[in-house]
Amino acid sequence: MEIKRANELKIYNTLTGEKELFVPLTPPSVGMYVCGPTVYSDVHLGNCRTFISFDVVFRYLLHLGYKVRYVRNITDAGHLENDADEGEDKISKRARLEQVEPMEIAQKYTVGFREIMRLFNTLPPSIEPTATGHIVEQIEMIQSIIDKNLAYEVNGSVYFDVSKYNEKENYGELSGRILEELMSGSRELEGQQEKRNPMDFALWKKAAPEHIMRWSSPWGEGFPGWHLECSVMSSKYLGKQFDIHGGGMDLKFPHHECEIAQCKAANDTPPVKYWMHANMLTLNGKRMSKSTGNTLLPGELFSGNNTLLDKGYPPMVVRFFMLQAHYRSTLDFSSEALQAAEKGFKRLMSALKLLQELNYNASELNQKLDDEIGTLCNQCYDEMNDDFNTPKTIAVLFELVSHINTFHQNKTTGSVSEQTFIGLKKTFTNMVTEVLGLQQEEDKSNVLDNALQVLIELRKEAKANKNFALSDQIRDKLKEAGIQLKDEKDGTITYTLI
Ligand code: AMP
Ligand code: ZN
Repeated sequence: MEIKRANELKIYNTLTGEKELFVPLTPPSVGMYVCGPTVYSDVHLGNCRTFISFDVVFRYLLHLGYKVRYVRNITDAGHLENDADEGEDKISKRARLEQVEPMEIAQKYTVGFREIMRLFNTLPPSIEPTATGHIVEQIEMIQSIIDKNLAYEVNGSVYFDVSKYNEKENYGELSGRILEELMSGSRELEGQQEKRNPMDFALWKKAAPEHIMRWSSPWGEGFPGWHLECSVMSSKYLGKQFDIHGGGMDLKFPHHECEIAQCKAANDTPPVKYWMHANMLTLNGKRMSKSTGNTLLPGELFSGNNTLLDKGYPPMVVRFFMLQAHYRSTLDFSSEALQAAEKGFKRLMSALKLLQELNYNASELNQKLDDEIGTLCNQCYDEMNDDFNTPKTIAVLFELVSHINTFHQNKTTGSVSEQTFIGLKKTFTNMVTEVLGLQQEEDKSNVLDNALQVLIELRKEAKANKNFALSDQIRDKLKEAGIQLKDEKDGTITYTLI
């Protein structure tokens, strides 16, 4: 049975609008960059969905045998409140409100983000660079764009000259937007008069006196524009051309369009071979978003502490719920959908446990069944190779679940060949744990029982040593804590909760 078929992977490329065969620039290495969080508040479930989607991409590429360098940045400067280069820096604003240093805000929410990502069992990226750690490189890139005459300085700020760039290139190649239409539809916002053209975007912004986050530059004190950090850090760590760039659908324009323009202007080459965009998680049919307050936080979901929820759901159930939708489809959050996902998750994981306990024992071969299981195992790869189709992969895994349960009930695995059985064990386990990143939820139910057994043993020892004061003390203190010990006739000690 064929297992790994790396050369059949197809990825939907937003740039061409087609599913394309994945051919890395320098195999077996793969460079992947994903836009990370802006660390000014807790990540919401929508953000988590995008990062989980790309975690599966990362995991599957690793599983196929690629050597992946996965870079995901932390935006800790430069992201203004609106896309039109106006308003306050999101992190500075939060720092001002909470009366702390901006870096305290960035640190607090970076730590929180990593913890949530760990709970969702996402693999850490290979490099997690920050915008503030790359100010020098950002200044260098701005200078090289100015040198190419594609950016201009006005009053301590530097703007990218979109019209000039568009004379030779196509500003809009990723999003399908047309510059002329964008320009006629744009409004002149307060404070934008210094731009030559409303569609020009900031590479460097002069810092107003009250702006806390500021650095020296050839153009005076200021801070970098938001789009710049991703161009700088991706080319620094992955080269001027790399394989995959990902992010949420909402970043396609203007963020990723601007990234392409900056990279082409500075490096004379298109930066990315495959652009991937993950679709949005919605709540009540509307995009989950920090700015509108239409959000659900992972912590609320785990604890059940939200009126939208009937109870709490463990992170693995939530991960499974998200993977039941394709990353390019929208997914609407609902308590009912989570309940269904919980059932499915349990069924999948209990089959995994049964399969791990099953051993091969030869008996009469059922060739039809043998072929069917072989085909299903291959189908998992067909589906994952079809632009990471996790919902269809999960559907195939459930067909395998039925066979695993039958093997278990019949207490025989010999109706298939040993090779097929080994293939099933390997494919099923790898797909569930390595590729989809699902793991058993930790069962803490017996931890307390184990602790009580320790106390019961201590009490027995005390009695045997005629230390009745201690044995009584253990019994009485446990009673106070709501646990009644009982000395059985056969010498064992049992307990009940009172
Ligand atoms: P931000 O912290 O706002 O820069 O967003 C971090 C990532 O989450 C980006 O890739 C966004 O595209 C993504 N994102 C934001 N809202 C949603 C949503 N409702 N569903 C899925 N992804 C989202
Ligand atoms: Zn980015």
